[in-house]
Amino acid sequence: MAEKGNFDFIYDPIRQKMQELVTPITYATYIEKLIPVDIDGRYIVLQTPTETFAKYITGTLAEKMREAIIKADVGVADFRLKVEGSDGFAYNAPSEEFVAPPANLNKKFTFDNFVVGKNNEFVYSAALAVAEDPAGTYNPLFIYGGSGLGKTHLIQAIANKIVAEKPDLKVIYVTCEQFVNEIIDTLFVRRGADARDKGSKLRAYYRNADVLIIDDIQFIEKAKSVQEEFFHTFNELVSKGKQIIITSDHPPKELTELEERLRTRFAGGLLFDILPPDFETKIAILKRKAFDKKCIVPDDVLSFLAQDSGDDVRTLEGRLNKVILASRLHEVPITVAFARSALNEAVSEGGKEEVTPESVIAAVTGYYRINKGDLLGKSKKKEVVIPRQICCYLLCDILFLPLKTIGEVLGGRDHTTILYSRNKVEELCRVNEKIAKDVDDIKNVILKK
Ligand code: ADP
Ligand code: MG
Repeated sequence: MAEKGNFDFIYDPIRQKMQELVTPITYATYIEKLIPVDIDGRYIVLQTPTETFAKYITGTLAEKMREAIIKADVGVADFRLKVEGSDGFAYNAPSEEFVAPPANLNKKFTFDNFVVGKNNEFVYSAALAVAEDPAGTYNPLFIYGGSGLGKTHLIQAIANKIVAEKPDLKVIYVTCEQFVNEIIDTLFVRRGADARDKGSKLRAYYRNADVLIIDDIQFIEKAKSVQEEFFHTFNELVSKGKQIIITSDHPPKELTELEERLRTRFAGGLLFDILPPDFETKIAILKRKAFDKKCIVPDDVLSFLAQDSGDDVRTLEGRLNKVILASRLHEVPITVAFARSALNEAVSEGGKEEVTPESVIAAVTGYYRINKGDLLGKSKKKEVVIPRQICCYLLCDILFLPLKTIGEVLGGRDHTTILYSRNKVEELCRVNEKIAKDVDDIKNVILKK
């Protein structure tokens, strides 16, 4: 609810900051003539004498104004404009947006199925504390560690728990890559009034979060222009006492391409590392994953899988999945000998027909009725791109081929493209039933179920 009264005590410090940011003429012509008439939540409402006046502020001075507001640090974060004598808002009208839970969370990532070992016990407790009391003790929370060690699992577990238990809080989970692309596309590529509107909506979207989770922040290193934008979002949320959670593959001090001020901010948060699991924890993780797949795997096979599996849990899980899948196809029990041979050969059905990259490609092209040349080619048409991405996904998930090999099989593509496509399809399967069904059907064709 808006409070009425004299708001000069809030506007004066902002005015002073503006004086440093604009020319004396602009200051005298525009800024001095704005009258603070209201505080509405995190907005200061400023009155302008005319519509044209409001348009000039919106079009030319809005960014500076916002910067001055943040620098003045007076408890508001943005402004709205009202033209004298009119009821509506000329800029930043209040929206009636409701809090919808984020659609991009994987419900399977929970605290319950995250196996705790010596390698992750501290980060686990911190994550749980944040989920129970967002913006309480651990803020901002910064989690770092190598790929496949459970960072995304943990932070999505935080998000899932908050969404379930505190539905009023606005939780935003975003991969840094998505954040960077959105910001670049909206704030730097588009032009014109429509773009400005979209830009302020996007800003407001992130700056209105109660819990902002950014996965794989190292991605922002490459996008210098986005770092500044993120810096302001970060400061605003922290100053409003909102929770921020960040993951990275390296600790802040090793993110050398990051602007110094961002690195300092990150380093000033609570840092937790997540290490590779030891042998016992690997076994516990394998047991848990087998249990989730309703499959009993003997202890000696679990030990076999955990040996020489490298450090990361993703690979470990891949080995287990491959063995389980092979045993289901061959309908034979899992033994160490069987696991060893399953890991050395492509999965085949009944020992008769091998599943090969060619058979996966044929199943995809047959299913979508497109030709192989198009699938392997460069066409960006949706009818081809989605099948191509699904093909990447299936080659990863059925054959467990290295990304580089898949890239070669699929017309000489880069391994990062393959990884991107694989993850994209995994994501699509969660949010798009049609694609999930397509993928399932094609899998059944390949595996001749
Ligand atoms: P990162 O984000 O660090 O690259 P992920 O969170 O994507 O890693 O984890 C990769 C896979 O390993 C996921 O399927 C995740 O469920 C699993 N995983 C990692 N650590 C654990 C753990 N401690 N307990 C259970 N599963 C784990
Ligand atoms: Mg991750």
